Amino acid sequence: MKDTYGREITYLRLSVTELCNLRCRYCMPEDGVVKKRHEDMLTHEEMVLAVRAAASLGITKLRITGGEPLVKPGIVSLCHAFSRIEGIRELCLTTNGTLLPRLAAPLREAGVDRLNISLDTLDAEKYRRITRRGELSQALNGIEAALREGFEKVKINAVLIGGFNDDEIPALAELTRQYPVDVRFIELMPMYDSGDFGPEAFIPYTVVTERLPELEPVKADGGVAKLYRLPGAQGNIGLISPVSAHFCAECNRIRITADGKIKPCLHSSEEISIKGMGLEEMEQTIRRAILEKPQWHGQLSYSERSHANRNMNQIGG
Ligand code: SAM
Ligand code: SF4
Repeated sequence: MKDTYGREITYLRLSVTELCNLRCRYCMPEDGVVKKRHEDMLTHEEMVLAVRAAASLGITKLRITGGEPLVKPGIVSLCHAFSRIEGIRELCLTTNGTLLPRLAAPLREAGVDRLNISLDTLDAEKYRRITRRGELSQALNGIEAALREGFEKVKINAVLIGGFNDDEIPALAELTRQYPVDVRFIELMPMYDSGDFGPEAFIPYTVVTERLPELEPVKADGGVAKLYRLPGAQGNIGLISPVSAHFCAECNRIRITADGKIKPCLHSSEEISIKGMGLEEMEQTIRRAILEKPQWHGQLSYSERSHANRNMNQIGG
């Protein structure tokens, strides 16, 4: 269905957990999350109902996210249930990749069509520093497992962080020559708890084209990324600019958090609960949330932070 600004809303991002096996510095605090009461989180059945309700309103693309969706007990059977919901034509999942060596095959069998894998650095020490605990080799093994299992259009997501990984833009981009993957550079968003980073960390996407003058523009594919390609590469380079050039006018998505709050806009504090509802009430509530989707998220910068009032692991990115 269309929202009040004429945008066709076809994309739902569902966070299935706030928990994660990593602690990325821009995403969540070191000591993890204050664990919410089990009864305050959506049950598996409620998640399936929510997706059914959203599909009945015209959602065709579903992305499973988190926290880390692969630490969610029962994630494979949940994905299997989502993939069978009438109207859902594309089932995607965003992951840090570290558990893919074990789960890539069952996820593919369960009907997951596409994977986005987050990777900000190719240096093992820096990987440990940014994730506060991760092993780079596990994430790289995860990417290889996804390709081995035949996932197509695998995307590697790297958050651009000035003074941390801007020197690795060429090396990360080179992955598109090494593997049949797209690499997407995403501007760091000033969330609630990204206090580890000073103003110099917030660099615009244009840094990528400056560092890689050989990039050739590619026709956009309908997504929010500006697309380029390195000569001879197997995949594209995507630039995603939520901060320096927002794409609110083309935004086609809504989000549902693991504790059952619809977020019509990532950076707004507005949240509408669907916890405890049946199918019909969920459908009415999601309809209302779509109609309340704001026109844009307001200015974002180091000093004008997101109004989301949650860290990214509690929203889903
Ligand atoms: N755990 C999974 C992962 O890391 O891919 C899925 C959830 S994570 C919250 C989804 C995406 O949000 C990741 O690609 C992550 O890099 C990105 N993200 C988290 N905090 C961010 C921030 N402050 N600015 C930009 N991207 C952020
Ligand atoms: Fe976990 Fe993903 Fe957040 Fe990193 S970005 S802490 S992997 S949820």
